[in-house]
Amino acid sequence: MRKVAFYTLGCKLNFSETSTISRQFAEKGYQKVEFSETPDIFIINTCSVTDNADKKCAKIVREAQAINPDGYVAIIGCYAQLKPKEISEIPGVDAVLGAAEKFRLIELLDGFVKPETTQVLASEIKEATAFNNAYSINDRTRTFLKVQDGCNYHCAFCTIPLARGKSRSDSVENILSSAREIAASEVKEVVLTGVNIGDFGIQDGKRTERFVDLVKAIDEVDGIDRIRISSIEPNLLTNEIIEFTSTSKRFVPHFHIPLQSGNNKTLRRMRRRYLRELYEDRINKIKQLMPNCCIGVDVIVGFPGETHEDFLDTYNFLNELNISYLHVFTYSERANTAAPEMEGRVPLKERKERSKMLRILSEKKKQQFYRENLDSTATVLFENDIENGMMHGFTENYVRVAAKYDPMLINELKTVTLKSINENGTVAVEEPEMVFETH
Ligand code: SF4
Repeated sequence: MRKVAFYTLGCKLNFSETSTISRQFAEKGYQKVEFSETPDIFIINTCSVTDNADKKCAKIVREAQAINPDGYVAIIGCYAQLKPKEISEIPGVDAVLGAAEKFRLIELLDGFVKPETTQVLASEIKEATAFNNAYSINDRTRTFLKVQDGCNYHCAFCTIPLARGKSRSDSVENILSSAREIAASEVKEVVLTGVNIGDFGIQDGKRTERFVDLVKAIDEVDGIDRIRISSIEPNLLTNEIIEFTSTSKRFVPHFHIPLQSGNNKTLRRMRRRYLRELYEDRINKIKQLMPNCCIGVDVIVGFPGETHEDFLDTYNFLNELNISYLHVFTYSERANTAAPEMEGRVPLKERKERSKMLRILSEKKKQQFYRENLDSTATVLFENDIENGMMHGFTENYVRVAAKYDPMLINELKTVTLKSINENGTVAVEEPEMVFETH
């Protein structure tokens, strides 16, 4: 039996896709192993958003070669689509597959025989029109279910549409069938994942369904305890979605909503499809219906033309806003996007300082949110981790809690009382009580 190992860089979508590709290998009789178990084949799923994607990719290839110099190395993923030639020149790479090819890996690289020269099978991105469904089953706790891929927006900083192609989705019917498979495998939480998930519903270039249709339908699938939406654009997060989530059986009170800038001039330059007033309105609507809802925010600092005053505008906007944490990205130039051509390059030092200020603000917001949740009762899904004798899990509204390690708690939903904030930022809970399993 030939052994295959996988390495994934990047986002939840990549994890769901690696997991699905690994199941294709298992169906064909390959044995999935870790890197350290001397695999015959190494599959590296890359990311284009990661800084130094090229160096990271080359480093993993070197590791693979050190483990098994005769091993076959294939590179897939966003970076492989964007820079196939560059990757093919990394010593030790046997094949590079693009977005339209990666799910046909086994068929295209028949037998995984090391070639004389690197095989590059990366069509132009416009060829990536098929939707390949995917979900991750790595441990039993949580699964990332891919429902949408690609993006038709053209944000000035973003390279994802070039790496993943046009917006396209699975059908609600197919997703429900995957959700039922997942429910049967004892997974307790499903995270709906996509590139621009609110744009869900385009098949063969035509809009046939809406994201809210999926939300309502998947809420009825028995056997899944919790459903989370990974991230949704503010202009696509409708009142209907917010209102449904607030009364839903399974959708948790947690949204992750990219803002990118709190300054309207910068939002326009970024080619985002909303202004800060709309964003604020969305947050207020959520908090009005779900006061305990956790709200995460993506924000970019140092976009070309962002002056210090513009940055302060963003800082003050976020400081006033009732949100729970930030994901801060320091702007970095990406080839073939509009932003690097724009005037007003922000020096790297300034970008880093702005990033630091927002990271401190994020910590303050998180602590504030956690404090607001103290003394309340919540349900925690405990994960399979151990650190200094403690295990961790998340409440429905994404408070990270710590409890004394007990293997019986892994993948269990427990009702706890949130007691205090630990030095490391997690929340201490009162002795968990047993709750009845829902399936
Ligand atoms: S919405 Fe904008 S940032 Fe998000 S994937 Fe599409 S182009 Fe990129």
